[in-house]
Amino acid sequence: MLPMPAAKSAKPRSLSKYHEKRNFKASPEPKGDAKTDAKKRAKAKELFFCVQKHLASHLHYDFRLEHRGVLLSWAVPKGPSLNPADKRLAMHVEDHPFDYGEFEGVIPSGYGAGIVMLWDKGTWRPQEGFEDVDKALEKGELKFELKGVKLKGSWVIVRTGGGRWGKPALNEAGKSRSWLLIKHRDDWAGDIDVAEAAPKSIKSFGDFEDILASDEPDVWESHKPAEGGAAGKMLQDIIAKAAKLKAQREDGKVKGRGKTVAKKTAAKKRTSARAR
Ligand code: MN
Repeated sequence: MLPMPAAKSAKPRSLSKYHEKRNFKASPEPKGDAKTDAKKRAKAKELFFCVQKHLASHLHYDFRLEHRGVLLSWAVPKGPSLNPADKRLAMHVEDHPFDYGEFEGVIPSGYGAGIVMLWDKGTWRPQEGFEDVDKALEKGELKFELKGVKLKGSWVIVRTGGGRWGKPALNEAGKSRSWLLIKHRDDWAGDIDVAEAAPKSIKSFGDFEDILASDEPDVWESHKPAEGGAAGKMLQDIIAKAAKLKAQREDGKVKGRGKTVAKKTAAKKRTSARAR
C-alpha cells in the first residue's frame, strides 16, 4: 500500500481565477469555496479525479485531480491515451472547485460556453516519491495512479518547455503551462483509442446530444459557442440530433398522455431548465 498524502494539513488553494472568469448568474457551473471544500474533504480516505469532455470553441478533455480543496486542471485537446507511446499535450488551467467534478450540462454563454460531459471519474493517488504533490507540481513531474471507469493504472504528467511551435505560454510564476499526459506501461495500457472506444458519459450514459436534449437544444440559435471548423460542425450535428431526440420525446408524451414516471420526470426537468 502506498502512503496517502497528508490531506489534513493541506491549506486550501485559491479559486479566484475560476471565479474571475465566470458569471454565475448566467452559468450553471458550481461556484465552490476552496476553504469549505478543503475542510469538507480533509477526512476523505481517497482523492477524487475526473475527466470532462468539453465541446466549447474546440473539443477538449479537462483532466482534474483533487488537491487541497480544489481540482487541479489541465485541458487535453486530444484526450488521454492508453498508449504509452502517446504524449498528450495538457495545458495547465485554473483550479476548479471540488464540486465541479460531478458537473455535466450546458453552459449557455460566456467563458467555456458549450456542453460538458462527465467522461470519467474515480480516485487518484500520487505514486511513491511523489506524495508531496506541491513539490511535484513545482518540479514539473507528478507520477500517479488512477482508479476510474475508463482510465486506470499508472500515469505521469510532466511539464514541457513548449516545443517546436516557439515560446510556451507561461503562468504568473514564469513557468510553462504546457504539460504532457502519458500512460505508463502496465496492465491498463494498450493500443486502444479510449476516447473513440468509450465516448459517452459515465454519469448520464448518453452522448453530447442527450445532454443537450435534456436541457434546451435551441439555446444557441442566435449565438453559437463554436461557429466554424470541426467543433462548429460537430456542434451543428449535435444540435440537430438533440432537437430530434426532443421531438421524439414530445411526440411520445402526446401519444401516451405523459402518464409514465419517466416522462413526467423529463417534463419536470424541462420546466426547471426553462426556469433557470
Ligand atoms: Mn474546458
